[in-house]
Amino acid sequence: MRLHALLALAFILLPLRAEAPGPAAGPVLIISEDGLGADQFRPDTMPNLWAMARQGRRAAVLPPFPATTFNGHVTLATGCWPEHHGVVANGYLRPEDKLRVPAANRVEDILREPLWVAATRSGVRTAVFHWVGASGPWEGVAPWRMQAFRPGIPDAEGLAFSERALAEGAQLVMAYLSGSDEEGHLKGPRSPETLAKLRTLDAELAPWLTRMQAAHPGLRIILTADHGMVPMKRRVHLPSVLDGIPVDLITHGGSAYVYLKQPGDRARVLARLHRAGLKAWAREQVPSRYHLGGSPRVGDVVVLAPLGTWLSQARSSREDESERHGRAGAHAYTPESAPMKSWLVVLGAGQGPLADVPAWDIAPTAAAWLGIRWAQAPDGKPVAALLPR
Ligand SMILES: [Zn+2]
Repeated sequence: MRLHALLALAFILLPLRAEAPGPAAGPVLIISEDGLGADQFRPDTMPNLWAMARQGRRAAVLPPFPATTFNGHVTLATGCWPEHHGVVANGYLRPEDKLRVPAANRVEDILREPLWVAATRSGVRTAVFHWVGASGPWEGVAPWRMQAFRPGIPDAEGLAFSERALAEGAQLVMAYLSGSDEEGHLKGPRSPETLAKLRTLDAELAPWLTRMQAAHPGLRIILTADHGMVPMKRRVHLPSVLDGIPVDLITHGGSAYVYLKQPGDRARVLARLHRAGLKAWAREQVPSRYHLGGSPRVGDVVVLAPLGTWLSQARSSREDESERHGRAGAHAYTPESAPMKSWLVVLGAGQGPLADVPAWDIAPTAAAWLGIRWAQAPDGKPVAALLPR
């Protein structure tokens, strides 16, 4: 009888113990720098952050395919695969009504619970700055503090927002900052302009982080990004490749989605794309490791260009001009392409060397640190090397 009672007590207490954060646990800060590739983070480009990383852990984040800003950030935030969270690229064609969603950065595009919602539901005081998809409440739940994205806001405002939130007791802060994406697109990822931006980020972020570490003992920091960037050598114009076949196109840079207007055209489209030297899969044939083909938002055919080639959807000279403007560098390739990997620095958590981390493991790791319970288990899992022993 006594043993029975003890077992019953253990059964009640165990789940609570497993979810409670460790005694030395401080708040968690996740910062994403748009487009900052693992190959851009070096002692010569970002010396101060590199020195800080020596006190912590450094690896790379493997982005989802296609490696784009909205897909990447929603994967980081939900811990789920693109085919589950639904933000399959920066834009897509809505399967239910064929409506073009040119910017899938709204909360209503997200089909799985973001970390800031799970955290809020778990009683964790959470602040979110400019993160993709943090544009309003999700299923009626908004974090303690949220500043939705507006263009033209300097990174300093994001750091001030984060500093204020931490000072006022936030346990989880997620901030999206400008990174090196714009310079990489306009001038190329190895251009003097991009290198100058990396040095500016380093000079701004490193001393600020040092200050935050001093103010908040036990602070755990993840520095990462949505994707990397690669210089462009060549363009393939998809409307020319598919001339005479009625389709809608959503191009992302190194990859694209094709939406057929006549379902019978699929084989013809695949044949034309293959003949043009591109990889192309019918949606159901997309390799399962990309976790993409389960979403009808990706259309009928998924196209992938060789690294260094970008895909154009321009149907007018004006569209052509605006596309070319940002194509000194591009992304949206697969995670196997080394330049697509994002930087990753973890400070204040884990032990031993860190291997490359899939983007969908980041939110589950932060959730494990803070004892956050998900409404539905995410696809990713906490990174073992980052958990307390
Ligand atoms: Zn970009």
